[in-house]
Amino acid sequence: MTEPNTQTCCVDGCHRWTRHETLRKSFGYLPREWICRECWASVPKSYRRVVHRIDRTAKRYGWNKRLRMRRRLAWDRIKRYLDSNPLGIPPDLL
Ligand SMILES: [Zn+2]
Repeated sequence: MTEPNTQTCCVDGCHRWTRHETLRKSFGYLPREWICRECWASVPKSYRRVVHRIDRTAKRYGWNKRLRMRRRLAWDRIKRYLDSNPLGIPPDLL
């Protein structure tokens, strides 16, 4: 960490960071975990779409218990994927 009020990418081995201010601006709140642009881009599109769809639904109808649970499961799947692919290489290319 180079300065206070920053958050580092939650992927192991990735040291990219961002300011809390930037996160608040782009998400509207401060997320507990954050994945940097480069790591996020290496996640399969189908995984990313699930998170985006849940966020869209929540934005329109508000959060509920089911939605929160689905969001966490989708997020955990992405993190598991990134842990098993630290270089961001899709499994079918290894
Ligand atoms: Zn990262």
